[in-house]
Amino acid sequence: MLNFTIGPVMSSEAVRAIGAEQVPYFRTAEFSRVMLENERLFKLFAHAEENARVCFMTGSGTASMEAAVINVFTEKDKVLVIDGGSFGHRFVELLEIHDIPHSVIKPEFGCGVTAEQLNEYDGKGYTGFLVNLDETSIGVLYDIKLISDFCKRNGIFLVVDSISSFLCDPFDMKQLGVQVMITGSQKALACPPGISIIVLSEKAVERVYSNKPKAMYLDLKSALTNGERGQTPFTPAVGTLLQINQRLREIEAAGGVDSEVARIGGLAEYFRKQIELNKLPFKIVSNSLPNAVTPLSPTNGVSANDIFITLKDEYAIWICPNGGELKDAVFRVGHIGALEKKDYDTLINALLDMQKRGLL
Ligand SMILES: *Cc1c(COP(=O)(O)O)cnc(C)c1O
Repeated sequence: MLNFTIGPVMSSEAVRAIGAEQVPYFRTAEFSRVMLENERLFKLFAHAEENARVCFMTGSGTASMEAAVINVFTEKDKVLVIDGGSFGHRFVELLEIHDIPHSVIKPEFGCGVTAEQLNEYDGKGYTGFLVNLDETSIGVLYDIKLISDFCKRNGIFLVVDSISSFLCDPFDMKQLGVQVMITGSQKALACPPGISIIVLSEKAVERVYSNKPKAMYLDLKSALTNGERGQTPFTPAVGTLLQINQRLREIEAAGGVDSEVARIGGLAEYFRKQIELNKLPFKIVSNSLPNAVTPLSPTNGVSANDIFITLKDEYAIWICPNGGELKDAVFRVGHIGALEKKDYDTLINALLDMQKRGLL
C-alpha cells in the first residue's frame, strides 16, 4: 500500500513497531515522563510561549475543535469564523450548537481570505476568531499573518485549527499571537488516529480556568490540572501517545520543526513539478497552496473519483477523493506521512500507465 491521503497516513517503522506491542498501564511515573516530554516538544515545535500548556484529548481532531470552542468561548462572545470548506463549516456548526454568537466570512472557492474581507469587521466588537489554517478539504492555506494582524489590532482572541498545517507550514504561535492551536495525531504527526492536541497560551489557560465547564469529557480545566503531573483525567489512547512520543523525538533528532517543514515542502514541490513535466491532464485548483496537500482537477473530463478508484483497486495507491459536489471534479494528493520522492515517482508512473491504457 502506498498512501497519499491526508490522514491517516503512513507511519515510520519505529512508530509502527510500538503499535505491535502490548499497551502498558498508564498511571505510572514512566508514562507521566513520556507525557511531559510530549508537552515540551509540542510547545517547542509550535513556538509556544514559556507558560503555554498542552492538552491531550482522546478523540479525533474534531473533539479538540469542540473542546476549544466550548472552553474558551461563551454566549457573551462574538466570534468571526472563516467558512471556506468542510472544516470551516464544522466550526460554524459548533458555534451554532453551542449558541455562541458569530459571523461567517466565506472566501471564494480556491482562494484565501483577503484584507478587504477582514477590514469590514474592524472595530465591530468581535472578541474571537476561528480559522482552519489549512482548509484541507480544498487545499487552501490562509494568510495567517494577515489574520494575526487583524486580531492584534482588534484585541481578538485567535483560535487556529492547525490540524493539517502543524509540521507542514511555518507557524510561530507566540509571534502570531495565537491563543489556541489544535492539531491531530493522524496528519503530519503520522501516527494512528485517536489523539488530538490543544496548545494553549498563558492567556488561554486563564480563560479556560475562568469559564464554567460545559462538558465533562471535553473539560480542559481537568485536562490541564491532570496534565501538570503528566496525566489525563480518563484513560487516553495510551498506545497512540507513546507513538506520538517516538515521532516527536524522531523529528527533534532530524533537526526539529524547521527541517520537517522543509522536508514536506520539498515533497510538495517535487510532486507539483512532476505533474507539469509529465504534462499530466490536471489543473491545480488552489491559489494559496499549503505544503500538506495538492488539490487537482482533471482537465480532460475524466472523473476525479474514478481516478481514485482505479489507483486504489488496480495499483494499490491511495490518493484522497473529495466528497459532495466536488466528487468528480477534484482529488487531492497529500505530502504528509512516511513518504519519499521515489514514492511520487511510483504515483506518476501509475498515472502515466493509466494514460497509456486510455483511462486518463
Ligand atoms: C483532518 C482535519 C480535521 C479533523 O478531522 P478529524 O476527522 O476529526 O480528525 C479538522 N480540521 C482540519 C483542517 C483537518 O485537516
